[in-house]
Amino acid sequence: MTSLQDTKSIFKTKVLCFLVLFVFFIAGAESLFSQRKIYTVVLDAGHGGRDPGNLGSGFKEKDIALKVTLAVGKILSKNKDIRVVYTRTKDNFVELWKRGDIANDVKADLFVSFHCDSHTSQAYGLGTFVLGANGNKTNLEIAKRENSVILLEKDYKQNYDYDPNSPASIIGLSLLQEENLEQSLQLASLIQTQMVKKLKRHNREVKMGNFQVLRETIMPSVLVELGFLTNKKEGRYLNSRSGQQALAKTAAETIVTYVNQLKLNTVSQTNTRVVAPVNTDKTIKATSNITFKVQIASSKKNIETKSYNFKRLKNVERVKVGAYYKYYYGNTSDYSKIKTFLNEAKKVGYRSAFISAFKNGEKISVKEALKTP
Ligand SMILES: [Zn+2]
Repeated sequence: MTSLQDTKSIFKTKVLCFLVLFVFFIAGAESLFSQRKIYTVVLDAGHGGRDPGNLGSGFKEKDIALKVTLAVGKILSKNKDIRVVYTRTKDNFVELWKRGDIANDVKADLFVSFHCDSHTSQAYGLGTFVLGANGNKTNLEIAKRENSVILLEKDYKQNYDYDPNSPASIIGLSLLQEENLEQSLQLASLIQTQMVKKLKRHNREVKMGNFQVLRETIMPSVLVELGFLTNKKEGRYLNSRSGQQALAKTAAETIVTYVNQLKLNTVSQTNTRVVAPVNTDKTIKATSNITFKVQIASSKKNIETKSYNFKRLKNVERVKVGAYYKYYYGNTSDYSKIKTFLNEAKKVGYRSAFISAFKNGEKISVKEALKTP
């Protein structure tokens, strides 16, 4: 038999439980809403160490690039939604592929490389580059000059399928950057128009060029040639503290504008639906609906999946996603096995390759896949 007293205390306990749950719910909801994305911006100061860059009219590109880059980073770091990562913070030599690796490793949202141009004439002005086939001879010369640092790197033949001195090797473009072309162009034109307008620089427009450092990254990436060191007047501006501060301030403001644009679009960037390809791997457990693959490339081009097209990797798989073809290597439900595939792909030269996970043929995050029993 339950007394009135008991009923009362049961009621009290129920109310208390409800209140506790309610508080947890509110707290949970709040943490859910306050979860904001931090955007990682990789800032790349061109050259460094034994590679001085161009020496213009007595000014050192590597020093100016570093000073501007660090000043941009300092301003960006004050923005609570932005994390800044540098490829170098002092006067040291960093290989071009390593700069890309740094950006890929931290899963950067964008990559901006700062340089200064040179020319035998008194040419001047500011130009921004995205990766693309070289439109004209001038762009080709700039790209060749910026890429020639490879020759200072040890084992460069092993690290790049590219010889800066051979025009033939300039034809094969990175497949990975193609996917980012639109966003890279968006960022480039924002930087170009803002910097030219606010700092009254001569407009050398947004152009495409085959810059090795841009070939190595898998996120929207641009390279800014801040001006010409060979032009005496512009060289002095670039070498001055006030010039560097002004360039850095405008560059940082523009990057913030771009990040704000990204924020508005975040929803559309998640979860691309991928059509399930035919599964040929016999080792996959019948019970598992999780598959791991290594994405080695992505392109608008439909490339035959013959091993000679993919640095001798066998059984490359092609999947069409929207306007793009994605190229995968390896297909297994075993995460440790896919890591072996990833190492293999990186070893043959797909240094930007990464692991993708699928659940019932639909792309999910690797983290999610690993949580699935
Ligand atoms: Zn340079």
